[in-house]
Amino acid sequence: MKRCPGCRERIQDRAAICRFCRYEFSEAELEGEARQRRINAVILLVGAGVIVTALLSDRRGSAPDASNYGPPSQPSLSQAERDLCTRFIARAVEGGLVMRRPKPDKLEVEDEVWAAAPAEVKRMLAQAVACEIWGQSMPPDLESVVIYGYRSGKRVALLSAAGLDLG
Ligand SMILES: [Zn+2]
Repeated sequence: MKRCPGCRERIQDRAAICRFCRYEFSEAELEGEARQRRINAVILLVGAGVIVTALLSDRRGSAPDASNYGPPSQPSLSQAERDLCTRFIARAVEGGLVMRRPKPDKLEVEDEVWAAAPAEVKRMLAQAVACEIWGQSMPPDLESVVIYGYRSGKRVALLSAAGLDLG
């Protein structure tokens, strides 16, 4: 929500015209607001990502049990830790980074926020999805997390058991 400069009523963040007094926001005002939203989204995620990074880095490099053939690998993260990843993804939605999640392992991100986000935040988002779905910081073999640009439709990240590709 934002305050209308005309009547001080609270209105939708993206409103171009106030529904109370019909105040019209200029292109420059709307552009400034959009820029501020992108900055806020990234700042929000860097803060939340620090916790999740610490959590997931603990699980990196823990070799799978070689005697454990057949059944899918066991989740290595607790439910509380998975909930933390869920909250991180929710923040990415609130902050305007994630626009859609058409499938559990597929996200669509706002192109400009994604471009402004540090690589660590991109990694965190992909890993948080793996954490939520599989209870691991990386997807199991033959599974992956795919991230697309919402407007470009271009694949911007792929996290698989082989690692993260931001190409
Ligand atoms: Zn107004």
